[in-house]
Amino acid sequence: MHFQNEPASSEPTSARCAKHPSASATTICSRCGSYACTQCQYVGVNGQDYCVDCFLREGQGQVLAGRGERFIANLVDQFIIFLPWFGAVFLEVLLSEANVEQGVRSGPISLLGLLGTLAIAVYQLYLVSRNGQTIGKRMMKIRVVRTDGSRVSLGRILVLRNLIPGGLGSLCGLFSLIDALLIFNEDRRCVHDMLADTKVIKASSESGDV
Ligand SMILES: [Zn+2]
Ligand SMILES: [Zn+2]
Repeated sequence: MHFQNEPASSEPTSARCAKHPSASATTICSRCGSYACTQCQYVGVNGQDYCVDCFLREGQGQVLAGRGERFIANLVDQFIIFLPWFGAVFLEVLLSEANVEQGVRSGPISLLGLLGTLAIAVYQLYLVSRNGQTIGKRMMKIRVVRTDGSRVSLGRILVLRNLIPGGLGSLCGLFSLIDALLIFNEDRRCVHDMLADTKVIKASSESGDV
């Protein structure tokens, strides 16, 4: 670990947060020396003040993922599984324009779509089992861990976090709504997080999470 000089004890008064220009800075990161506002300021286990990036980089603790980050990650994951089908439909249109016979083209194209979707599903499983990420979560640099911060097993994520909540949701739409709305809780844990004893945190770039 390398620290810069002790942060000035006189708190900056007119300085602005490096990430939020509208917020006034409340501290200086002890690692990179950038100004941080209350929202970006984290105190490490060593008692030093950090900006969120350095806090994660130094392995000082975990930071909950933002609601927006989780929302976009979900959207990406739901969309990406259909990508091969969009590709297949596109190909089908191209071939029909080229007057390729219906019977000749539709079989292989459906197979292509199916294989593509399967490949993405397998890749998602691989990512999840490796470090609790999906393609969407990887893009948003967030990951799923147990409430105590430890690794989550693939089975726990699949069954408790996806299968059961998905099943309950298809039985009763209200469940899905409540599940999703619980993100506005203080600890941002949805029903599926409670069932699986998980939380979603920001991944640190230097621990191989991203
Ligand atoms: Zn910093
Ligand atoms: Zn800030």
